Amino acid sequence: MVSHDTRIAIIGGGMGGLTAAIALRRIAGVQVTVFEQASKLGEVGAGVTVAPNAARVLDRLGVLDRIKRVGAVPDGHGVYQNAMGGLVTDAAWEDSAKQYQNIGMYRPDLIDALAQEIDPETIRPGHRLASVETLDPGVRVEFENGANDVFDAVIGADGIHSVVRRAVGQFPDPVYSGYIFYRGVVDASRLPDDWRMISQVWMGNRRHFMCYPLQQRKLFNFVAGIPSDRPRGGVWSGPAEVSELAAEFAGADWDPKLQKFIGLIEHTFWWGLFDHEPLTNWSRGPITLLGDAAHTMLPHQGQGVNQAIEDSMALATFLAAADSIADIPEAFRRYTSVRMQRTAILQNGSRRAGAMYDAQYEFADLKKRDADIRVGRDFRRRVVFDYDAQKVAEQALNRFRGVQGA
Ligand SMILES: Cc1cc2nc3c(=O)[nH]c(=O)nc-3n(C[C@H](O)[C@H](O)[C@H](O)COP(=O)(O)OP(=O)(O)OC[C@H]3O[C@@H](n4cnc5c(N)ncnc54)[C@H](O)[C@@H]3O)c2cc1C
Repeated sequence: MVSHDTRIAIIGGGMGGLTAAIALRRIAGVQVTVFEQASKLGEVGAGVTVAPNAARVLDRLGVLDRIKRVGAVPDGHGVYQNAMGGLVTDAAWEDSAKQYQNIGMYRPDLIDALAQEIDPETIRPGHRLASVETLDPGVRVEFENGANDVFDAVIGADGIHSVVRRAVGQFPDPVYSGYIFYRGVVDASRLPDDWRMISQVWMGNRRHFMCYPLQQRKLFNFVAGIPSDRPRGGVWSGPAEVSELAAEFAGADWDPKLQKFIGLIEHTFWWGLFDHEPLTNWSRGPITLLGDAAHTMLPHQGQGVNQAIEDSMALATFLAAADSIADIPEAFRRYTSVRMQRTAILQNGSRRAGAMYDAQYEFADLKKRDADIRVGRDFRRRVVFDYDAQKVAEQALNRFRGVQGA
């Protein structure tokens, strides 16, 4: 194991950076400092699901109970429906062993729950990274507020516009999907008494609407995917009128139950959906990437944060196996080789899932779309939810050691 004095800087205090801080401290035993550009930790007031593959990691890190206390576990499987609410298929919202379920989280609650597991002295808000420079030894980080320091290694968890990514020689262009999401939450006490406490998706006319419970069922999250040119002007998100959203799902072709839900929405905002092609490398020497900085994906499989959580466990596992600071670049290379394969599949799968929900390309044939969604249910459970990031990293470590010994 690397010495406990090893100092690692994490750039970005989002859900990925905070989980990495917990994992690196608890599994690899190193010193971490989290630098966040905002003056305090926070997130937009909307929902996110912690999926079984990430719940497994959070359980091993000892933080799952805290997260569940502020989240919402639904009553059972979710449903995919046509525009009038006819069932296409149920959606497995748990792993095959039925040990871990999807947990609906209000984003600010998830940030708060993770931050409470970290020594506050090690979180530095108000630090916007300006540059990263590899020294011999160490990595120098400089912030726009004039602060600077040298660390043994740096992890870029600084999101889609990552500055650290440039230091590993990667400059991906963001790709606009042609879609925006209207996002927000509804006060669940205003929902009809028989409203189901599960995830529901309605799909029709090249758009879809999804909702699920959050915050001990006090809130209901919604996202509505609509084709739009809005972000092409350069602004990627902003406030929106509820009437715009309601107009997208108006008329006799849409389920009156959905229209009733939309009638309860008081506030919404829009968000352009961007991703990028899989990177060709994540690590250079003692610098590596994690979360959206490494693999921004469309939100249609609900896996962006969950992959950042898997990354954190894998990174900590490889780092824990390093004997000294000199071994960190090799630990980062191993982490990269294992994680890039997994996340590239999900980046591609997320584009495909969006095309299905919005009946694009070959999925304009609704029979084909429905067939794919039905089989996707079990594929997702086995391939996405059953994945054990720690076990995969340990198996890879054994293989790497076997090759070294050969
Ligand atoms: C509509 C929508 C719905 C989604 N739903 C889901 C879902 O259900 N499940 C799921 O798993 N994922 C979902 N995602 C994806 C998820 O939100 C992202 O994958 C996730 O936020 C990535 O976390 P991160 O920590 O890597 O990056 P971010 O959340 O982007 O955090 C990066 C942090 O770095 C900070 N930062 C940036 N630049 C600097 C700098 N130069 N210096 C210092 N700090 C910096 C930022 O302020 C931020 O705090 C959704 C995304 C969208 C758009």
